[in-house]
Amino acid sequence: MSEFLKIEKLQVKFGKDTVIDDLNLTIPENAITVFLGPSGSGKTTVLRSISGLNQNATGKILLDGQDISQLPVNKRNIGVIFQSYALFPNMTVFDNVAYGLRAKKVAKKEIIQRVKEMLSLVDLDKKANSYPDDLSGGQKQRVAIARSMIMKPKLLLLDEPLSALDAKIRVELRNQIRKYQQKLGITMIFVTHDQSEAMAIADNVVVISDGKIQQQGSPDEIYKKPSNEFMATFIGEHN
Ligand code: ADP
Repeated sequence: MSEFLKIEKLQVKFGKDTVIDDLNLTIPENAITVFLGPSGSGKTTVLRSISGLNQNATGKILLDGQDISQLPVNKRNIGVIFQSYALFPNMTVFDNVAYGLRAKKVAKKEIIQRVKEMLSLVDLDKKANSYPDDLSGGQKQRVAIARSMIMKPKLLLLDEPLSALDAKIRVELRNQIRKYQQKLGITMIFVTHDQSEAMAIADNVVVISDGKIQQQGSPDEIYKKPSNEFMATFIGEHN
């Protein structure tokens, strides 16, 4: 497996509690890796350590060969999507998506072209002038994803991005996310506690429980060859 993202000896402590201890992990490029595990198992903590949002993390994180462990959040070239969308409510869809490019002083003409392309990819061309409050949950999350993808991050982290949406929209949007990944070749890490969602969207699954990696493999391997007792029970419970 290629080692596009490599985590070495990650440790995270909150006060006296060691939540993650000596976690080592590599993640392939141009694929969707899912972190799957029960609530409270440490998935978000690992994700926040990768993005730099977690101040309590020690260890080494290499992204595409570069040690990013000491870099501030905005220098890591990583996009983050949250369950809550986190859009700017006072800006139109267009302005939300253009925000990062404007901050980087990209030329106006290029901004217009790139935002149009991105809105077309997420099928929101007709909503360019709407405000977030006028959109459905699924549309809001597509704006958030477009706003991140337009920056061409090396890595896109999605933390339970579909959890606030109803079942039908969840399935639709996960298929859309797969489409965006394939079209743009972005490397993604997608966090979920939902096993069927994980298996449907993943190329590569990392099962985390109690701060430890229980198994990593393709959805097929995870189903057919559970590597230990925990995995056999975990998979069994959901079948
Ligand atoms: P998951 O994403 O799998 O639901 P989390 O990474 O959010 O799990 O949490 C893992 C563990 O770390 C939990 O026991 C949680 O209570 C603890 N934890 C997470 N963030 C903090 C924090 N800021 N302060 C104290 N404990 C935390």
